[in-house]
Amino acid sequence: TDMDLICIGCGSHLQTTDKDKAGYTPKSALDKGIESGELYCQRCFRLRHYNEIVPVELTDDDFRRLLSQIQDTDALIVYVIDLFDFNGSLIPGLHRFVGDNPVMIVGNKEDIFPKSIKRSKMKEWVKQQAHANGLRPIDVQLTSAKNNHQVEELLHQIERYRKGRDVYVVGVTNVGKSTLINQMIKMQNGVDNVITTSRFPGTTLDRIEIPFDEHSNLIDTPGIIHNDQMAHVLAAQDLKYIAPQKTIKPKVFQLNDNQTLFMGALARFDYTNSVGPVTTYFENNLNIHRTKLSNADDFYDRHAGELLVPPTAENFKDLPELVSHSFRTERKTDVVFEGLGWITVHGGASITAWAPKGISVITRPALI
Ligand code: GDP
Repeated sequence: TDMDLICIGCGSHLQTTDKDKAGYTPKSALDKGIESGELYCQRCFRLRHYNEIVPVELTDDDFRRLLSQIQDTDALIVYVIDLFDFNGSLIPGLHRFVGDNPVMIVGNKEDIFPKSIKRSKMKEWVKQQAHANGLRPIDVQLTSAKNNHQVEELLHQIERYRKGRDVYVVGVTNVGKSTLINQMIKMQNGVDNVITTSRFPGTTLDRIEIPFDEHSNLIDTPGIIHNDQMAHVLAAQDLKYIAPQKTIKPKVFQLNDNQTLFMGALARFDYTNSVGPVTTYFENNLNIHRTKLSNADDFYDRHAGELLVPPTAENFKDLPELVSHSFRTERKTDVVFEGLGWITVHGGASITAWAPKGISVITRPALI
């Protein structure tokens, strides 16, 4: 049929023909959706119901249109990142396509970080990372969209910086952009769950305009898919064991020289030329296993997907192979497996850190 129906999740035009393109929904689901008034594309439906990430192709033209739109506008850009996955939150070329517009960075999922980490230190770290990627944010705010923490403060800051202009919210998928927008609009306009329950005239693939006040809009842009995220290398069932829902409780391991820690079968940490404590920060239920370095390869081959989970045996075959990254630490350093967690090394040591191909491993001066 010749339809022009729009997904209430992402604003794509719904279509039933091309599985890999935006807006795809199976015909049967579409009919049900029309009946119930809940029109989602398959991707948004899965995101809502199973928190499953399904990549979708934006055509280059769609993408260029989106980017040039931002360049040509006079607006405040609110760039939402996942504090737990800075590299996985990067939008390639963002600093170019924002043009002269001011960018404010929102570091979301602040609730995952222990209270003992100074928020000022985290902001400083975000600023440094931003600078290293060519961005000069006018400000950095930390929020927990899920717990509605610091969202009101964020709104105050947005009011201050936008000076009556529109606000473009940008971010890759899974950083909590929808949750944050819903919270902000609820606070600002009293409208609940704006992104999933309302449809706005003129929504297209590239933007959803939400009235912000009488004269301006908040514009939700599509979540850009960043393939180098844990969320993309893991199946939905496994993701819930690694994505922290609550504040991480640090664990201390007294390591001997030449010992290895396995974080499920997802990451590996080899500790050499040193003896002493390391502190791990991962989802509280993630299974951490210690072995001798000399046994580690063999141990992994025999136990990945069984003793070492996630991922489970069934999903292990789809996991990209682990790739090693070597570092020498001199002082207290965090070795960060992006999107998974980090290990604080308390002094000098030689470290080889392994993560699935595509997932970044970085070091930073310890946050604590
Ligand atoms: P979007 O793809 O950027 O729009 O992200 P969503 O709003 O759909 O959120 C992605 C996932 O992150 C969901 O599982 C949310 O529950 C979770 N999430 C969102 N905000 C927060 C937060 O502040 N803290 C934590 N721990 N999780 C969050």
